[in-house]
Amino acid sequence: MADGSKMGRPPIGGEIDAVVVGAGFGGMYMLVKLRALGFSVQGFEAGHDVGGTWYWNRYPGARCDVPSLFYSYTWSEELQKAWRWTEKYAAQPEILRYANHVADRFDLRPLIAFETRVVAAQFDETADRWRVTTDRGDELLARWLIMATGCLSTPRKPPISGVDSFQGPTYHTGAWPHEGVDFSGMRIGVIGTGSSGIQAIPQFAKQAEHVTVFQRTANYSVPANNTPLTEKDIEDFWKMYPAYIAMVKGPGMGFGGNPANALAATPQERRQRFEEYWGVGGAGFLAAWGGIITDIDINTEAADFVRGKIGETVMDQKTAESLKPNDHPIGTKRICVDIDYFQTYNRPNVRLVNLKETPIAEVTPTGVRTTDETFAFDALVFATGFDAMTGTLLAIDIQGAGGAKLKDAWAEGPKAYLGLAVAGFPNLFTITGPGSPSVLSNMINSIEQHVEWIVGCLDHMRGQRLTRIAADPDAQEAWVAHVRRVADKTLFPRAASWYMGANIPGKPRVFMPYIGSGYRQKCETVAAAGYEGFALTGAALTRATEDVHAP
Ligand SMILES: Cc1cc2nc3c(=O)[nH]c(=O)nc-3n(C[C@H](O)[C@H](O)[C@H](O)COP(=O)(O)OP(=O)(O)OC[C@H]3O[C@@H](n4cnc5c(N)ncnc54)[C@H](O)[C@@H]3O)c2cc1C
Repeated sequence: MADGSKMGRPPIGGEIDAVVVGAGFGGMYMLVKLRALGFSVQGFEAGHDVGGTWYWNRYPGARCDVPSLFYSYTWSEELQKAWRWTEKYAAQPEILRYANHVADRFDLRPLIAFETRVVAAQFDETADRWRVTTDRGDELLARWLIMATGCLSTPRKPPISGVDSFQGPTYHTGAWPHEGVDFSGMRIGVIGTGSSGIQAIPQFAKQAEHVTVFQRTANYSVPANNTPLTEKDIEDFWKMYPAYIAMVKGPGMGFGGNPANALAATPQERRQRFEEYWGVGGAGFLAAWGGIITDIDINTEAADFVRGKIGETVMDQKTAESLKPNDHPIGTKRICVDIDYFQTYNRPNVRLVNLKETPIAEVTPTGVRTTDETFAFDALVFATGFDAMTGTLLAIDIQGAGGAKLKDAWAEGPKAYLGLAVAGFPNLFTITGPGSPSVLSNMINSIEQHVEWIVGCLDHMRGQRLTRIAADPDAQEAWVAHVRRVADKTLFPRAASWYMGANIPGKPRVFMPYIGSGYRQKCETVAAAGYEGFALTGAALTRATEDVHAP
């Protein structure tokens, strides 16, 4: 495997067709496609190699929660056939090896400047080009700017008093040291019990002398029932592959879920099906019955079922009560998938602190002080998630037409047309941007759909000798309103979730992903209608022609 590091390289400049920011699964596929179509392209990646999420999130226990066979690119059947996943839910090192395999196989590293963060991008209206600058002094002019910066790539620490005062080592699950961490013999504090915390805590507990878990929100979690993949699993996968692809390329998700009508079933039938889905394990539990995410009665039954499982698993009933989620409907915060999470609280070296009862007053140089107790730790772990969906984009100083700043345009929450483009910011595309299914979908599928749509659009622009595509503000408003209306028909807005921006103080409360059905179809219809809702122009070319013919 080649090392992507380019320390000491000279600054990159000049004029090219496209800049791609980020070298996770989104950026890598975008580079493959653009190069294949003969676009000149430069990738930038803050990390020192490819992988994105799987490069940064190296905490013990990190895994995908979409089964590995489906958490793979579908755009190359040869690639699919060449790669052999070993477990139903692959662990982070295996997914990172897969990302590296893709980079090697398609020779992507020469297209990417690593350890380079894009810090600013300004749209030059006279040239219809983005001026892109990086923290290493690069300055490029690019016709197209593609943000493959990820929905979950800006780790956040909670705004707790003294959060940076702890004098021992601190870690964030989203930026885990590459060399790993040995907690043997240590007393550690873990703040946060979302997906990452739930995956990591059982692993920490096996190593550390003592683990104290600080929980603000109890979350629903379903066992992964992870297993090694057998030859038969692989054979079965290939048998159903054509149907799977047809489904992936179909109109797209939506939260109808299983059409099975829960209301027509008896309570025993409902429970039996919950048991079946629990036995299979994974996030598919939410599809046990239609309506779990739209009907509060069915949802409550599903939630009660999970609470019951927690009560059966955790021996200490006070701890069990604290672990039972009770402040949001199931599925309205990201459902977690775990390996022995609740069982971990039966270990003598693990203790739960319920912050709803005794909030953290401050982080101190030696540990954590809650409203009624002081804890001393050798190390602190923040499993406190990300400034999701918008944080990474807004960290870049993006200035569109007329110098308008993205951070002002999104001051009241992100607005984007189809989650692909932002009015006022021509020639800029966001892969899995806000207003698209993104984090509510199998993200590899969503990434592929966006990459293919964007590349199709750029090919069209080039074919027509057009140099500017700009989302129409009215089309954008209509889409944003539609995204909100669809979300309002579900239970999602009832949760103070990161989908709603609720984990970041001051962040506008807007439901960011798109949860409706027919998304892919909608994007295809827009393209087929000559990019309906976009204005396509060839200003620079027209001007160049005028200049040539000027007397
Ligand atoms: C722990 C964890 C588990 C997950 N599990 C699943 C799962 O099971 N199924 C699923 O569908 N999704 C999962 N996800 C979501 C996951 O983020 C996506 O599946 C996918 O990996 C995103 O790929 P991406 O290329 O869009 O973004 P990322 O993988 O986040 O890559 C973005 C890259 O852009 C770089 N970058 C950002 N800003 C800049 C800048 N200014 N300059 C240069 N580089 C920049 C970052 O360094 C990063 O490497 C998980 C996420 C996490 C955090």
